[in-house]
Amino acid sequence: MHISQAFDGGNIDIVAADDPSDIRLAIRKDHRSDFYQWFSFRLSGVTDTPCRISIVNADGAAYADGWPGYRTCASYDRETWFRLPTVYENGILRFEVEPEQDSLYIAYFAPYSMERHADLIAEVAGSPLAVTRVLGHTLDGQDMDLVEVGHGRDGRKAVWLIARQHPGETMAEWWMEGAFDTLLDPDNPIARALLEKAHFYIVPNMNPDGSRRGHLRTNAAGVNLNRVWNAPDMDTSPEVSLVRAAMLETGVDFHLDVHGDEALPYCFIAGFEGIPSLKPGQTALFERYVSDLCGRSPDFQRTHGYPVDAAGSSDLKKCTDYVAETFGCLAMTLEMPFKDNADLPDDTFGWSPERSRHLARACLESLLPLLDDL
Ligand SMILES: [Zn+2]
Repeated sequence: MHISQAFDGGNIDIVAADDPSDIRLAIRKDHRSDFYQWFSFRLSGVTDTPCRISIVNADGAAYADGWPGYRTCASYDRETWFRLPTVYENGILRFEVEPEQDSLYIAYFAPYSMERHADLIAEVAGSPLAVTRVLGHTLDGQDMDLVEVGHGRDGRKAVWLIARQHPGETMAEWWMEGAFDTLLDPDNPIARALLEKAHFYIVPNMNPDGSRRGHLRTNAAGVNLNRVWNAPDMDTSPEVSLVRAAMLETGVDFHLDVHGDEALPYCFIAGFEGIPSLKPGQTALFERYVSDLCGRSPDFQRTHGYPVDAAGSSDLKKCTDYVAETFGCLAMTLEMPFKDNADLPDDTFGWSPERSRHLARACLESLLPLLDDL
């Protein structure tokens, strides 16, 4: 039996792996941080052997309340990720599988590797509608990629879409694939109408180092990027420094920051209700956008979500609050589940890359009726 994780985005420590019926593993902490919850590894040499796998440190994970109701993701071909029967009891996450092939990949959610990210950037760069730009480098020396989509600014609205500040929330970059599929389709009437009035600035991966290192929440310096937007620096959070500088250059009329949530089995949006300079116009646009999206996608809802911030309580460390306050615009955090959408569950796959892509299409469609009023 072999268990390995020395690949792009891999994360697991072996505690005991002699007996397939009692494989004990632990999730590694993010480098220089106490956060952990993302895991990704390969199991091999146990074809047709019943395996019982325990993650023994699940109770100390960043969001242990996310384990109840969660089902582990697995794949033979690294394309199709199905769910395994999973239980969480006595602080241990346990799942069972009898691999049909020599090699089975197992992860918290369908991984999105930096190699796939490079493929995505290379592919979109081939579109006549897109221009790619390297904003600078991460602490590990990786590129910070920005993709512009449109016909140039020329009086058009500046729409910013960013994803994966938290690298373990891979559904956010799967969402980006859906966004690019939509925007770069020359026959899509919504995309054509959007690009008449808006120019898109897209950062499909805000945290390349955390992604490659197999982190849940932080970059190579152990920094939670979504807590430094008020004061980023090039020594510990170059990712935010670079993107924020680009935003200050372009201005922002609409902003969506795409995430995944460990606990809630729903897609939802969090706003900016606590910012000091909150304007009624911002709130009205927020209401219009969220209710339009509810009508457009049965995978989106507004009954379940985060508690709303009290007036004036924002500290502007979070991207959405910083952007809404700084630019006086509509800025939102989109959350997708690691589990499933409980309103429209899928027993085989749960929430998935394909459903993340579909939600991106709906999110872009809901932007169109707002554009003139941004
Ligand atoms: Zn997040």
